[in-house]
Amino acid sequence: MRGLLVLATVFVAVFGKETFEGHQVLRITATNELQINLLKELSELEHLRLDFWREPIRESLPVDVRVPFHSLQPVRSFLAYNEIHYDVMIEDLQDLLDAEQREMMRARAFQPRSTDDYDYTNYHTLDEINSFIDMLVKENPKLIRKIEIGHSYEKRLLNVLHFSTGPNRPGIWIDTGIHSREWITQASGTWFAKKIATDYGRDDALTAILDKYDIFLEIVTNPDGYDYTHTTNRMWRKTRKPNSDSDCVGVDPNRNWGTGFGGDGSSSDPCSETYRGPYVNSESEVKAIVDFVKSHGNLKAFISIHSYSQMLLFPYGDTSIPCPDYEELNELARKAITDLENLYGTSYTYGSTYETIYQASGITIDWTYDQGIKYSYTFELRDTGYYGFILPADQIVPTAEETWLALMTIMEHTKNNPY
Ligand SMILES: [Zn+2]
Repeated sequence: MRGLLVLATVFVAVFGKETFEGHQVLRITATNELQINLLKELSELEHLRLDFWREPIRESLPVDVRVPFHSLQPVRSFLAYNEIHYDVMIEDLQDLLDAEQREMMRARAFQPRSTDDYDYTNYHTLDEINSFIDMLVKENPKLIRKIEIGHSYEKRLLNVLHFSTGPNRPGIWIDTGIHSREWITQASGTWFAKKIATDYGRDDALTAILDKYDIFLEIVTNPDGYDYTHTTNRMWRKTRKPNSDSDCVGVDPNRNWGTGFGGDGSSSDPCSETYRGPYVNSESEVKAIVDFVKSHGNLKAFISIHSYSQMLLFPYGDTSIPCPDYEELNELARKAITDLENLYGTSYTYGSTYETIYQASGITIDWTYDQGIKYSYTFELRDTGYYGFILPADQIVPTAEETWLALMTIMEHTKNNPY
């Protein structure tokens, strides 16, 4: 154990990675409005450098927060003084990250020669996912093309897999990884890509969908952030564009969209994890999708995949007013999560973003819905906070499998209800 610890320390020193030694993730359970407000005040104390994985919203929802070692004592005292209950969810975050790295190192010894050999049970770097994409396209030239919809801030290509069996079809969009630290999403996206390639011509339901609709899948939607989570800071969520007048880097790419931009539930502070950016679509990763959606002009479903919390959400996030298709979207969400739950018993909640989590403005699916894409959904994948963003790799395939069932339900409904 001690040897491993030394090894891990050397690793950090050599590669300049941010360490999270002694950081704990606390689950805080507020029991009344006053306690929620106290937690909001706590979240504004910048010197504590707290990272809220789930923010204080209302009493019924748990609050998860990563507390750096130097802030543990003051935070514990604050909670005790105000008689706010908490549990330690993650005892030492670095232990989990070290285990995750060891698992990845184990897989790295092996170079896949085809997508059949690819290790779907492990997390992968940006380069590894990009070579997976190239292999998959090469193996399935009639079904899949790689399209480049733009560049990230650091000039990385924004690759989208285009699955198509004929010209001029309406489209279904799926993206994963717009928040870079949500690794279970990019890993699931990779699994979905292989699943589509494998099932076409074999599975009747998927074949029927692809005979009428194209599928677009962007696996690494925030490549700068994703690379950064591997090289420097595993907990990075935002884009990597510097902000003028601030040392804090990056914008929340899920607060940077045109519907409700700048409203409550997004921040004007560049240091915040929910910083909306200086103007609508300021982030090239977001602008590339906006341009794609507009130039395609015929997307019928748009599904943006996040983690964690186990939720299926639909518009709106910026207002409590139900969207015009509320009943249909709610019923379809209920069906989709029932199919998901039936596989491994993973329980989900569902509803509009506003009613299910919180007010969030400038989010992806509010904008896509307002562009006329009725079936606009956001997933929050596993888990509910036991591991949070550091979901062990042995949960990748089960997570992807169950999510796929829900995606199929949404895609089939889209196919059967043309508009
Ligand atoms: Zn997210």
